[in-house]
This record gives sequence, C-alpha cells and structure tokens, in this order.
Amino acid sequence: MHPSDHSIDSEPLARSFDAHHPPDPSVIDACVHCGFCLSTCPSYRVIGKEMDSPRGRIYLMDSINQGESSLSEATVPHFDSCLGCLACVSTCPSGVQYDKLIAATRPQIERNYARSPGEKALRRLIFSVFPYPNRMRSLLRPLGLYQKTGLQKLVRSLGFLKQISPQLAAMEGMLPEIPPQAFKDTIPPLILAQGEKRYRVGMILGCVQRLFNPEVNDATVRVLTANGCEVVVPQLQGCCGALSHHQGQEEQAKLFARQMIDSFADLNLDAVLINASGCGHTLKEYGHILQDDEEYCTRAQEFVSKVKDVQEFLADVGLTAQRSPLRDEPLTVVYQDACHMLHGQKISVQPRQLLRQIPGVKLREPVDAALCCGSAGVYNILQSEVAEELGRQKVENLTNTGAEVIASANIGCYVQISKHLTLQNKAVPVLHPMQLLDYSIRGIQLEQ
Ligand code: SF4
Ligand code: SF4
Repeated sequence: MHPSDHSIDSEPLARSFDAHHPPDPSVIDACVHCGFCLSTCPSYRVIGKEMDSPRGRIYLMDSINQGESSLSEATVPHFDSCLGCLACVSTCPSGVQYDKLIAATRPQIERNYARSPGEKALRRLIFSVFPYPNRMRSLLRPLGLYQKTGLQKLVRSLGFLKQISPQLAAMEGMLPEIPPQAFKDTIPPLILAQGEKRYRVGMILGCVQRLFNPEVNDATVRVLTANGCEVVVPQLQGCCGALSHHQGQEEQAKLFARQMIDSFADLNLDAVLINASGCGHTLKEYGHILQDDEEYCTRAQEFVSKVKDVQEFLADVGLTAQRSPLRDEPLTVVYQDACHMLHGQKISVQPRQLLRQIPGVKLREPVDAALCCGSAGVYNILQSEVAEELGRQKVENLTNTGAEVIASANIGCYVQISKHLTLQNKAVPVLHPMQLLDYSIRGIQLEQ
C-alpha cells in the first residue's frame, strides 16, 4: 500500500518520515541558521522557544530526515504550533522555501504519528463537517436555537466549556451570528455584465464564507458585474481543500482539488476568481497538490493559470464603475493583510490601490501588519492559546490606528478579528474590500 493511502484513522507505520515526499534535504540545507526569521514568526513571538521558530523546526525536520530524531510527543507539538503563515518565507534572506517544508511535514505527521484519541476525534469532526457546506447547514438550525434561546450567553458566562475542552470553547467562541441567507445558496449560475462585457469570469464561493458571511459573495458579484464582468458560478462546486491542505489531510485535499477543477471545466473563462485569501493560496497550489496525479496534473496547472484573487484581478483590469464617497467626511480604513494574501500570494499593493479609489477613503497602517492574527485556518481551534494572544494583539494594533473601518479579505481573519473586537468591547465594523467597493458603486453610505 502507498503511504499516502493511509487516512487519519490509520495505525502509524513508523515514527519517522516515510518515503512519500519527506521534507526536501536540499531545501533544508539552504537554511544558514542566521535567525532573521525569528522576530517575524508569530509562534516564536508568543511561545518564545527556538523549537517553535522556523529555524528550530527546520532543524527538527533535518534531524528526523537523518534518523537522529523521530515523530514523537517531543517533536510533533513544535510542528503543530506553526501557523503556516509563511511570514518566515517573506523574511528569509537566503530564500528558504519553508512553505514547501511544512507542507511536506504535515501529511507525514498525519500518516506516521499516533495522535491522542481526543485529538483524533476533534480533527475527524473538523474535517468531516467544515469543508462540506451542506453538512454545516444541517447544524445551523440547532446552532441558531442555541444562540436565540439565550443558551449561548449562559454557556459563555459560566465558562465551563474551557474546563472541558479549550478547543471546543474556542470553536464556540468564534461562532458568528447566523445570517438568514446562510441556509441556502442564492447566487445563480450566470450573472450578466452590466453594460459592455469585458470579461467572463468564474467565481468560487468558499464553504465557511458562503454560510457565515454570504454578503461578501453577493457584494463581489455586484462589483464584478458593475465593472463589465459576466460571472459564472458552478452550482455544484465544493470546498477548495484549503483546510485539509493546511492540516496535512493530503488525500482529502486532492479529492477537493479534483472536484473543483471538474466543476470549472469547459466554461471558457478568462479567470477563476476567489475572494478569500486562504482559499486563493491553496487554489494556486493545485499543481503541487496534484503533482503525482497523471490524469489531473496538467489540468491542475491549466486551472492554476486562471486563478486570481478578485482584488488582484480588479486592480489589473481596472475599475470602470463610478464610485461615490462612503461618508460625507473622509473615512479612515485600516487594511488587514491576511497571511496567505501577503506572504502566500505576495498581494499587498492591489487591495490598497482599490480602496484608495473609493472617494474619501484614507488608509491607515497598523503596527506589525505582517504578523498573523492567529486564525490560520483551524489553528485558532487546535492551538487556541497561541491564537488567543495573537488575536488580542492584532485587534489592539488595528484599533490603535484609530481607523473607523477594518478591511479584511479573508473569512478566517474576519471571524478571528470580530471575536476579539467583541472581547475587547470595541465596535469597529469589519468589512471585505469588495463590500466597501460595492457600497461605493451603489451609492450607499456607511452609518456614522
Ligand atoms: S529560514 Fe532563513 S532566515 Fe530563518 S534561520 Fe534559516 S536562513 Fe535564516
Ligand atoms: S509559517 Fe509562520 S508560524 Fe510557521 S515558522 Fe513560518 S513564520 Fe513561524
């Protein structure tokens, strides 16, 4: 049996890396141990130990590759504590591709390390529910009742959930108010361009976003059509595989990647657009995820050549729709760089360019803009303590700018920042840049 045929339920084969794509020694050898990456690493900032830094983890990978160490209780927690934010990749002067190393390490852990029954059960729950919008929808009514009956307030005020399981408490703490549109997908398969058609684009809906912040997808469609794009939305599209990919669930990520490629096949599109940065980064990785798949590897590369973050696309093709101010007075906005946008896709200029094209918007820059907010997919559930501290710091830094609006282009960051704004009793709206552009194009002003 091929090592990758093992699921998270399998018994471990060995407590070392197997032969199926272990971390590449030539990439490891590029690290000169200079330590420049340490100050930009969020896990090192919070935990403060060398082994929870990029340099320490690279050292561990090397020692496991050499047979001097193994996948054990002594090493795996240091890989688990990595947020996968890729800040170290942006910082490293030697060009060490840590993204490739950690992406190779995570599936090795899932195949070759026996997690505790509790951890296994939590991961099984996450990966069998979160990437399936219809399964999540079946939980919405009970969750809505939980919120509306006041049970949520009671549970939060008693605080006992944290004693039972910090991870369950973290999951509960992030639960946003469930919007009425969450129960059904409402975006049709084809939305025509307003005025002259300039482009025909496909749109990926995301799985968590379409349930918990569906207004972002509605706004994205309106912005695109107002700017001359015909928008195609395959109705059977599923999850892009980002959650699975970032946590080393290799077979599930491959399955979702194949399904996504199939659902966008033969549509004659100029681009495939995504408005969530974590998803966008994984979609652009499909060539790598399906590198061993003879049937799909070429199709994956063709698909990737069309994938663009919606802000990257719009900044490139230019806005043509008229825009009006969101307030009578200037509006201060702080743009929050999501890690998989900034470090993963190197997109930082384009969202700011678009926001500056809204009349009256003044951008502010926070301290530690390049530092992760602690969301990182399901990191804020699995590693809740580190995530809490990073969320707290991020919200302080964003609100210290004095901005009246936080602009965030990633659903995970939106949930994390919203949670910590509430914890800090701060009422600053968190909006996707597409929502701000949409309001501006439709002439809607923000409340004072
Ligand atoms: S990863 Fe790069 S920055 Fe970090 S220690 Fe190695 S060479 Fe230095
Ligand atoms: S990906 Fe982020 S958390 Fe992980 S080692 Fe690099 S900087 Fe640290």
